[in-house]
Amino acid sequence: MTTIEDAGTMTDHECDEAISELYRYLDGELDPESLAHVEAHLRRCSPCLEAYDFEAELRQMIAAKSAEQMPAELRRQILGVLDRLDDSLN
Ligand SMILES: [Zn+2]
Repeated sequence: MTTIEDAGTMTDHECDEAISELYRYLDGELDPESLAHVEAHLRRCSPCLEAYDFEAELRQMIAAKSAEQMPAELRRQILGVLDRLDDSLN
């Protein structure tokens, strides 16, 4: 009995975790350190970024949250993450 696991690639679990962490961050349940952890994951896992169509989704979330009451600081931080991710993908 062996499990199939590609060496050197991210596991789905790790990707799921990063994404759900980010959602929690948007809900104000996580601290900036956790956002940094999510960002670190996405930077070294561009397949994840593409698979989740992450950037488009995040921008949508920001727009939706802005319609409610996303603190300007939170929005600024997340947009900063998007900018850095753009850089690392190009
Ligand atoms: Zn990933």
